[in-house]
Amino acid sequence: MPVIGVLSLQGDFAEHVLMLDTLEVNSMEIRSQESLQNIDGLIIPGGESTSIMKLLELFDLKNSIISRAKNGMPIWGTCAGMIILSQNIIHNEYQNKIHKYEPLKLIDIDVTRNAFGRQIDSFEFDLDVDGLEDPYHSIFIRAPQVSRVGKNVEVLSSITNTQPVILKQDNILVSSFHPELTRDNRIHELFIQMFS
Ligand code: GLN
Repeated sequence: MPVIGVLSLQGDFAEHVLMLDTLEVNSMEIRSQESLQNIDGLIIPGGESTSIMKLLELFDLKNSIISRAKNGMPIWGTCAGMIILSQNIIHNEYQNKIHKYEPLKLIDIDVTRNAFGRQIDSFEFDLDVDGLEDPYHSIFIRAPQVSRVGKNVEVLSSITNTQPVILKQDNILVSSFHPELTRDNRIHELFIQMFS
């Protein structure tokens, strides 16, 4: 069984740890370069991508994460985590803070932050997901939209076949919603399957 690190600088990291517990997967909260060396995979949680990116630089973790990813370590980003792993971040009218941080550029997608609207526009949706038999009830909170999908990126799920919400490129998985806020651990299981 792999040891999964959960980036624990801001956001939903505790919820991811609890979900990994339900699968009996060992996890580790990551706040330092040293602890990054002891894990086989990493989850970057939902939260506020501007804050997480600022803290990634402050804790000097950005380059170490990029280099582990380039060496094949699986990484999964949920919501803000997806924004952080993208190639380019596009801003829109709801933006109150402009990102001055460059994303990690580990998956070839562009994302538009808060593109589904403000907090009040948060919604839930029953998604069909490749690899899952039954629909997955997903929670979207100030979610980003994927505005460009590179040719080597696989789309594993879309809303009404038009808006991709789970994507994968080699060892990088992203989802624009929050599987850690449900009681359904099947997307966490999909991530764990990337280690077999
Ligand atoms: N809107 C947030 C951001 O841009 C992401 C929201 C979330 O992770 N639920 O960082």
